[in-house]
Amino acid sequence: MKKFPTLLALSSLANIAIAQDSQQIDPKLTEVWQPVPAVVSTDPVPSDAIVLFDGTNLDNWNGHEGPAKWIVENGTMTVATKTTGIATKEKFCDMQLHVEWRSPPKIAGKSGQQVGNSGIFIQGRYEIQVLDSYENVTYSNGQAGSVYKQSIPLVNATKPTGEWNTYDIIYKAPTFADSGEVESKAYVTVLHNGVLIQNNTEIQGSTTYRGKASYKKPHGCAPISLQNHGDKVSYRNIWARKL
Ligand code: MG
Repeated sequence: MKKFPTLLALSSLANIAIAQDSQQIDPKLTEVWQPVPAVVSTDPVPSDAIVLFDGTNLDNWNGHEGPAKWIVENGTMTVATKTTGIATKEKFCDMQLHVEWRSPPKIAGKSGQQVGNSGIFIQGRYEIQVLDSYENVTYSNGQAGSVYKQSIPLVNATKPTGEWNTYDIIYKAPTFADSGEVESKAYVTVLHNGVLIQNNTEIQGSTTYRGKASYKKPHGCAPISLQNHGDKVSYRNIWARKL
């Protein structure tokens, strides 16, 4: 009786043939030599970054009404009472943003949204919350690293009160159709002290305290704004790379 190869044996033979074929492909065919990535040095900040605050002055910032009036001392800038938030003079769309922030000492009787509240408003609209979320309970979509009132951070990586935190933010700006409708929403990835807390999160619209966020009006590149929520939050070492 004649023996026929089984299906399994046939597929093994096919795999061997493919493997032998790929052995014969010149590896050079899949090498790409152009373009060559630009060389970027990284000490103390990436050489292609725009330094927004180097610890010495507020030259790159405006106040929301007039000049920026936060307090600059010891390489940091701190929210000042009786003044507004501040915003970069430079406008940004897609970007990588590095920010370091520190909460002031806790005040007896204050908790939740009342401790170390500030925020980074990307394009002046979309808030990545800054809050002293170290042993401080509040609504989860309002704690440090939330896209405020929209997206809960994956974990709480907040350092103890008074220690410096870092945010590394990768941001994709929204685009708008000629009709004014949002075409593609904004997306944000955030690392808090090196820990991923927002993973390509879709932003639902401009941050709003009441009600649901939405994209009300089309907009272009815009300043990065830091919130004055009345708490003496400090910032240092702020830089951004346009993407
Ligand atoms: Mg805030």
